[in-house]
Amino acid sequence: MGKIIAIANQKGGVGKTTTAINLAASLAALEFKTLLVDADPQANSTSGLSFNPKTIEKSIYECMVDGINADELILNTNVAFLDLLPAHIDLVGAEVEMISLDHREEKMKESLKNAKERYDYIVIDCSPSLGLITVNALTAADSILVPVQCEYFALEGLGKLLNTIKIIQTRLNTALEIEGILLTMYDPRVRLSNQVVEEVKTHFQHLVFETIIPRNIKLSESPSFGLPVIAHDAESKGAISYLNLAQEILERNKVALS
Ligand code: ADP
Ligand code: MG
Repeated sequence: MGKIIAIANQKGGVGKTTTAINLAASLAALEFKTLLVDADPQANSTSGLSFNPKTIEKSIYECMVDGINADELILNTNVAFLDLLPAHIDLVGAEVEMISLDHREEKMKESLKNAKERYDYIVIDCSPSLGLITVNALTAADSILVPVQCEYFALEGLGKLLNTIKIIQTRLNTALEIEGILLTMYDPRVRLSNQVVEEVKTHFQHLVFETIIPRNIKLSESPSFGLPVIAHDAESKGAISYLNLAQEILERNKVALS
């Protein structure tokens, strides 16, 4: 049975999609069968793996609204061991259409039930909101990974996110764990970046991953090639840091199991 990790933070531009694509690709590079689920109507994970969200006929939207099994819609990517459940823009309407459904928070979980058996890891790229689609992702997930950008106001909104996690743990998914807080876009030359690292570590201690993702041009340009960074430039700092993150997660999970 695989593990589902949701990448979430209601702040935009903190590195959710970059982390989702590249963590998924790193797990795949280590030969774990991995599924990336694009749960953001902006469909950046879909386009970042070279699929055109405008021509995608069915997506996670149909899975949730029409109750279609995710297995029917999964696409193979050009990366070995990595598959994609795509998004398209109609996903915006899903929240409204789902209002009248019973068990509307559990639609994604139901749809991924088979996939969870087949894959080692399922990584969900969430949208920058705490709306119904993200609640679905957190209800389906075993854990949440929170990217935090090394920037001004890094901690802003984290309290609200932790509160949402608590509500979900109480009402919808008692098993939901915090996989960790990931510092992203770190620039060692900028004093503020170092201050944010210290501040976040002081606040969240062991929850913070040792791996810190540096600001790296290869990470920002690889989606325009439709590739995860490891396939674009495997030697880059960005590729190495996401591989380190994957290894840190595998190591933590090993410790948790034993
Ligand atoms: P989110 O999904 O949280 O909105 P993204 O992953 O899309 O955030 O990142 C926002 C922008 O920052 C994108 O243009 C992305 O390419 C860029 N970016 C993210 N992480 C890095 C990084 N470590 N180094 C350089 N650019 C990055
Ligand atoms: Mg995104």
